[in-house]
Amino acid sequence: MTIEAKRTVTIPSQELPVSYTPDVVVVGGGPAGIAAALASSRNGARTLLVEQRGYLGGMATAALVPAFCPYTDGEKAVIRGIGLELLDRMKQEAGGDYRELNEDKIDWVPIDAEVLKRVYDEVVAESGTTLLFHTAVEQVLVEGETITGVVVNNKSGRSVIQAKLYIDATGDADLAALSGVPFHKGGVEGELQPGTMCYLVAGADRAKFQAFLEETGQSLQLEKTVVEAQERGDLPAGRKRISGIAWVTPYVAGFNFGHIFGVDGTKAEDLTRAAVEGRQLIARQMAFLHRYVPGFENAHLVHTGDQVGIRETRRIVGDYTLVVEDFLTMRTFEDDIARNSYFIDIHLAHAGSAMAIKHLPKGESHGVPYRCMLPVGKANLIVAGRAVSSDRPVQGSLRVMPNCFAMGQAAGTAAAMAASGGQGFREIEIKGLQERLTRQGAWLGVGERRQTAALAGSVIEFEEEC
Ligand SMILES: Cc1cc2nc3c(=O)[nH]c(=O)nc-3n(C[C@H](O)[C@H](O)[C@H](O)COP(=O)(O)OP(=O)(O)OC[C@H]3O[C@@H](n4cnc5c(N)ncnc54)[C@H](O)[C@@H]3O)c2cc1C
Repeated sequence: MTIEAKRTVTIPSQELPVSYTPDVVVVGGGPAGIAAALASSRNGARTLLVEQRGYLGGMATAALVPAFCPYTDGEKAVIRGIGLELLDRMKQEAGGDYRELNEDKIDWVPIDAEVLKRVYDEVVAESGTTLLFHTAVEQVLVEGETITGVVVNNKSGRSVIQAKLYIDATGDADLAALSGVPFHKGGVEGELQPGTMCYLVAGADRAKFQAFLEETGQSLQLEKTVVEAQERGDLPAGRKRISGIAWVTPYVAGFNFGHIFGVDGTKAEDLTRAAVEGRQLIARQMAFLHRYVPGFENAHLVHTGDQVGIRETRRIVGDYTLVVEDFLTMRTFEDDIARNSYFIDIHLAHAGSAMAIKHLPKGESHGVPYRCMLPVGKANLIVAGRAVSSDRPVQGSLRVMPNCFAMGQAAGTAAAMAASGGQGFREIEIKGLQERLTRQGAWLGVGERRQTAALAGSVIEFEEEC
């Protein structure tokens, strides 16, 4: 029998069961989604958290991103609330070797991915959130401005989840895109930050490595050794340093090293190529570590990311778009739900191009308005995490995990308020949301912030990035 190849196929219409009817459904269990689900449940809403993988954590566990970016502005914690609570809990539950190295850190805290997965399972269960793994949203049902359901696919088959409020924490704004919300992707020519396949090695020797850094006068990013290996053809051209090494214990280290270019994280073919290229690149990097880097002679590769780490895809068009001028002038908004002090960190889109890094001065931050999370034209949908409404430079700053926790906490709290009042996201009282966030540990800058003039001239270059 021959089957004619066609360009498109019409699928017969199908009657689907309704599998869940929560007040609030959170789609995506990365930092934004976890915080959103906890906040929603703790504020009284019946909450369902849907995640396509078999564990929570998003990029930190699926892509093995090795560390949490700073929680502080260099002087005080800017990200508090649920984000800080989860960081503390991971530290408490990690082993003695981990704590000895990392207990007092709050900036650039290494991630013990297996402990983090378990901690997330526990806190989500404690909050009363219903958790559904191995389930992906593939379609959004819309009537005018209202989402009436999401179609999910899992081993049980296809079904519909009908909630009052929807939180898109997919990182890629999947729900927003599927429901017709306009979005931007990448730069003016469609360029995207590269992906990185992160990994974990065991059997390393931190003390020996530290001695090597001191002896050669270089930072943790091995700027001299990487260039030497590139010049000899032992590493590919491109970024001239390691983006990050995070010591989980004195003998286990996580790596964020090298780039894979031209990857659109919303395309399966690109993700496939990046997975293959990423593992090949890691094989070269392991050979480099064995040969060039004392302390890693006997290191063994134990785990690579389940997927390549993706830094940027879609940015929704929201009621407000946070732009670089807001960042540089450290603007405060009436509807702030968080503050951000992390620097603008845009990785090179091509092997030959430069990285953009811009810092705010120590002790400074800008506001993140609630309206950035509200996609235009949708009444009961909110977006939290790296896909919120911003220009590209601001996305390069807002995207890091502590900020995603803060935005998630705000989105979940707003959802619970809206659910109890039978409202949409634009109808809740913003002052009430801000008071509740502050009461529940978040920091919105009140009392500890000063307004400063434009800073474009005083932006400084910095070396750490993720
Ligand atoms: C290489 C790299 C290094 C980085 N370094 C750092 C660092 O050092 N420190 C730091 O703080 N940040 C770092 N970041 C940034 C940070 O990890 C991400 O920006 C952050 O995790 C985004 O959080 P999120 O919750 O928005 O999305 P994600 O973490 O991407 O989580 C989204 C979740 O949604 C799920 N999902 C997606 N689509 C669907 C769907 N349709 N149905 C169901 N589930 C779905 C995914 O499986 C995932 O679990 C790095 C990122 C990369 C890629």
